[in-house]
Amino acid sequence: MTCPECATVRTHGSPGRVSVTCPKCLYCAARRIQFIQRVMKVSKDTKVAKCREALQEAMDWGHAETEIRRLAKLDAWAVEPAKKKS
Ligand SMILES: [Zn+2]
Repeated sequence: MTCPECATVRTHGSPGRVSVTCPKCLYCAARRIQFIQRVMKVSKDTKVAKCREALQEAMDWGHAETEIRRLAKLDAWAVEPAKKKS
C-alpha cells in the first residue's frame, strides 16, 4: 500500500506532528511511538503509558509487535519505503 502520511515525511523529513489518521500503516504506527519517545515533553511514566497504548492500538490493527518495535528502534524515522518505478 502507499501511505500518504509516509510520503509527506519522505518529502519533508522528520514529522512535526503525529499522524493517527492512517493506523493501518505499520510505519506510521512505529513513527507514532518514535514521536512519543523523542519529541513529547512528558514524564517517563507518561511516555511508557502512551507508548504501550500506541503499541496496543497498532497490534489491534494487525501489525506484528516485533516489527513495530524493530522500526521504532531505528535511528531514522520509520517511513514506508518509496515504491520503485517499474
Ligand atoms: Zn504511513
